[in-house]
Amino acid sequence: MIIAVASGKGGTGKTTVAVNFALSIDNAQLLDCDVEEPNSHLFLKPEITDRKKSVVLVPRVNHDICTYCQRCREVCAYGAIAVIPPSAGKGKGQVLIFDNLCHSCGACVMLCPEKAMFEEERETGIIETGKAGKVDFTHGRLNLKEAMSPPLIKQVKKGINKEKISIIDSPPGTSCPVIASVKGADFVLLVTEPTPFGLNDLKLAVETVKTLNLPVGIVINRSCENDHLIEDYSKREKIPVMMKIPFDRNIAVAYSKGINIVEVMPEYMEKFKGLLNLITSRIAGKGGVQ
Ligand code: SF4
Ligand code: SF4
Repeated sequence: MIIAVASGKGGTGKTTVAVNFALSIDNAQLLDCDVEEPNSHLFLKPEITDRKKSVVLVPRVNHDICTYCQRCREVCAYGAIAVIPPSAGKGKGQVLIFDNLCHSCGACVMLCPEKAMFEEERETGIIETGKAGKVDFTHGRLNLKEAMSPPLIKQVKKGINKEKISIIDSPPGTSCPVIASVKGADFVLLVTEPTPFGLNDLKLAVETVKTLNLPVGIVINRSCENDHLIEDYSKREKIPVMMKIPFDRNIAVAYSKGINIVEVMPEYMEKFKGLLNLITSRIAGKGGVQ
């Protein structure tokens, strides 16, 4: 089973939920797909046992046989190629590849009439795997200045073990990296807080999940007397609020020291186990956002 933990914006407690969930249930695996700013390892403190480079394929040109026909530029849907033809009597032209715009689709290489293009590996980040107690752990770290995170997210997700309950800590927001991380999940848990901003970002996140038609539930973090803001919306949208984590000083102090909720309040292990039961029943009942 794959459960993605997501939120419409950063700072709502998404990682707190993902990590404490993984620590509370049996047979869990945590995959941190927030590759631009992974931080679940700070709380889980896994022992890293394997590191490998994450690479994408980008095109390169053999200028000895290129005829500067422009075909590669025309077929690139992402504007990642510019062809400067040779000017009369002034030597060779140039094919420029903008690596940060390239989506590694391979179209230009396939359609070059002169077979002048080939692919080369380009490092985009690193994938680390390890273990924290009984929890298997994988995360990706995107290289600085690297513009596109979805390829690395997809590579982190290749580590999903179908024998485990895989919890994905998704990037915050509602853009392509979120889609890449929640796609293929059996359930999406949206973490929010009971404020007008929290509600606004939750609505955006729900709209994103709707496009994938995945079953979804809500966790209210920093629950307080304003919960009705989220609950009214959840009733209208028929999305269950599955758990509340109170606005509690002990939790905040523990968080600031990198200590998990279940370490200071072990009773939360049962609450997260209950959350898994709710999700399992919801999946069985096929309750999606329609
Ligand atoms: S399609 Fe091939 S031959 Fe034409 S400009 Fe591009 S690399 Fe050169
Ligand atoms: S591989 Fe695809 S995205 Fe990259 S430069 Fe070629 S056509 Fe454009």
